[in-house]
Amino acid sequence: MRRQSSKNPDQKKNPPCNQIAVISTTSKGAHIIGISLGIGLLTTYMYANKSIVNQVFLRERCSKLQCTWLLVYLTGSSLLLYYTFRSQSLYYSLIFLNPTVDFMNFWEVLWIVGVTDFILKFLFMGFKCFVLLVPSFMMSFKSKGYWYMLLEELCQYYRMFVPIPVWFRYLIGYGELDSVLGWTLGILLGLLYLILKLLSFFGQLRNFRQVLRIFCTRPHYGVTASKRQCSESDDICSICQAEFQKPILLVCQHTFCEECISLWFNREKTCPLCRTVISDHVNKWKDGATSMHLQIF
Ligand SMILES: [Zn+2]
Ligand SMILES: [Zn+2]
Repeated sequence: MRRQSSKNPDQKKNPPCNQIAVISTTSKGAHIIGISLGIGLLTTYMYANKSIVNQVFLRERCSKLQCTWLLVYLTGSSLLLYYTFRSQSLYYSLIFLNPTVDFMNFWEVLWIVGVTDFILKFLFMGFKCFVLLVPSFMMSFKSKGYWYMLLEELCQYYRMFVPIPVWFRYLIGYGELDSVLGWTLGILLGLLYLILKLLSFFGQLRNFRQVLRIFCTRPHYGVTASKRQCSESDDICSICQAEFQKPILLVCQHTFCEECISLWFNREKTCPLCRTVISDHVNKWKDGATSMHLQIF
């Protein structure tokens, strides 16, 4: 009893110490929550990405149940995250608005931008699951490939723009707003950021237009090979080492299965045998994959 009574006045004497301790534990707690959430988001991304690529690879054998599960899983985890942090209205940054965070420090900006980037990835992965679920009589596997490619490019383009308002607000308010120097510094930083963004925008524009063109025109890399042309290559496709399936003759006079060569052009621009340039663009992302790149800035 006596001990307790002697302890209490001590605690009352040093309230600032306690406050600092409370603040440091809450910020520590926030960091731990932030880090574990980041790990959670990354694992969700890796799991969903691998599953979607697997399902795309399986073609007609893909499991509708697995695709539906992925769709539910991605939607559920995104909604849960936004519900947990509903006080911050993080979803505002999906549509170019600023979330309702009272003051923004560097880590908060990274947190908002990082979470938004992951959620946008999940959203477009969900669209890919929708495409996977479309029956094959309505959409062929070939055109599904073009849809995955377009969705991924759209996703990357959108993700490039989404962090602009959050970073802009942070950089403009970076200096002390009551001094002229602070104002100038803030505006200069904001302008520098916008210039860098514009440069990357124009850098990506050419690529994006090319993807749009490929999506609309669906180019053919060659013509259907005749029996004689196939027998010139001993009726064996040099990619799969089996008999030709829907043989395609390239301009360099080499013949491959249609599927083999279209898979090849997802990674390369040239003929696998003679290295003649056949395509002007690598059809990346036709396999349903989602870029791992984290758009922080
Ligand atoms: Zn083949
Ligand atoms: Zn060739």
